[in-house]
Amino acid sequence: MKNYIPTIGLEIHAQLSTESKMFCRCLNDPDEKRPNINICPICTGQPGTLPVVNKEAVYKILQVGEALEGKIADFTEFDRKHYFYPDIPKGYQISQYKHPLVEGGVLAGIKLTRIHLEEDTARSTHDKGGNTLIDFNRSGLPLMELVTEPEIKSGKEAAHVARELQLLLRYLNTGRANMEKGEMRVEANLSISGSKELGTKVEVKNLNSFKAVEKAIAYEIERHTEVLERGGKISQETRGWDEEKGVTVSQRQKEESHDYRYFPEPDIPPFRLSEFEEFSSSSIRSSLPELPWEKRERYEKSFGLDAEQTEMFVNTPKLSDFFEEVIEIIPSDVDNSAKRAANYILSDLLGLMKEDGLDTVSLSASRFAELMIMISEGKLSSRGGKDILLHMYKGEEGNVHDLAERYGLIQSSDDREIRTLAEEVMKENPDVVSDYRGGKDSSLQFLVGQGMKKSKGSANPQLLKDVIKDLIRG
Ligand SMILES: [Zn+2]
Repeated sequence: MKNYIPTIGLEIHAQLSTESKMFCRCLNDPDEKRPNINICPICTGQPGTLPVVNKEAVYKILQVGEALEGKIADFTEFDRKHYFYPDIPKGYQISQYKHPLVEGGVLAGIKLTRIHLEEDTARSTHDKGGNTLIDFNRSGLPLMELVTEPEIKSGKEAAHVARELQLLLRYLNTGRANMEKGEMRVEANLSISGSKELGTKVEVKNLNSFKAVEKAIAYEIERHTEVLERGGKISQETRGWDEEKGVTVSQRQKEESHDYRYFPEPDIPPFRLSEFEEFSSSSIRSSLPELPWEKRERYEKSFGLDAEQTEMFVNTPKLSDFFEEVIEIIPSDVDNSAKRAANYILSDLLGLMKEDGLDTVSLSASRFAELMIMISEGKLSSRGGKDILLHMYKGEEGNVHDLAERYGLIQSSDDREIRTLAEEVMKENPDVVSDYRGGKDSSLQFLVGQGMKKSKGSANPQLLKDVIKDLIRG
């Protein structure tokens, strides 16, 4: 088999969360279920109406551009992109062609071509009677289009790039970017080149989830390779992903971009961003919050968490806010505090929240911190700690120490001696501890044996075993 190299570029559209639509004052409310409520003569494309640019939408695109280290334009203009479809009543979409707001930039290590602003189309649905219904609530919503260079090599990498963008858009409050709701839509341009021949480009659409992005691209790479292997030809076309069957299907032959007959939108004069103070690079830059990748680096450096925990926090700001509040309260000389708090939040607390279908933390950070301190001081075993956490979670009042006493969970001095013994044994045998963590069950027995030797046989072996197990699990 010859060596084939896939070349993949992405076009990602995302709806912006602005107050109003792109060129009119209609409400931008993606949750409006009643059709044709947020509409006016401008966003339904009536003749004689004039579009007015929404500054908030421009601002949001510039933030994304700045965060991705793109080159922000000075001169910019809007263009008409002509095509006919019932969901686009003007016969054209207002978009940007020659002078996008942002050029270049980098996302997840992949170079970007451009980021521009345009308007969304109306939504058409087909009813059971064979009619097509059109809802103009979506028509004229501000839409970002981000185009990457064709540098992506696999479906997995493409899905990663899309995930990183979703995370960024949420951090910046650019948009909600739910793929299942069509708030973020990914299309892939893909070709496979052999050693001599250059590949033919195929566009893949209907990618409504990150999994779909990954699977559809992997499928296409395989399909192209098979066709080329048996000496066949790939035709230039648009294909859609059929999630149920797990295949792509041909939708139409691809039109060239000149078919759109772009020309500058005569109703919106071109403008210079430098004419607006709020669009200056320094004011955009100072408006940016901590970015996902910055947070990732900070967590890895400051807290010593593993990659999976860091990723959970980076993806769930409500949990990481709580975590940071807790860490702030725990005195810095408390052993292993970040790791312990992370374990309790991400496994125990999150587990309870998931059972109840909650996505906000209802506990107070100071009580949670008190719990962590008591565990680290050995006043509570980690099993006792989990019990108390459950009582606190269920809304039981009072300080943590009183709660622990009420339930008889305060560890006796004997318990504490056992714990000290366990900690010593673990400190002296770090390799055995990591063997156990790695799944070697017999290591536990070895540690217990060491402890028994150390205590000259006075320790209760079952208790010692439980405590060591407890400590290793955090
Ligand atoms: Zn309108």
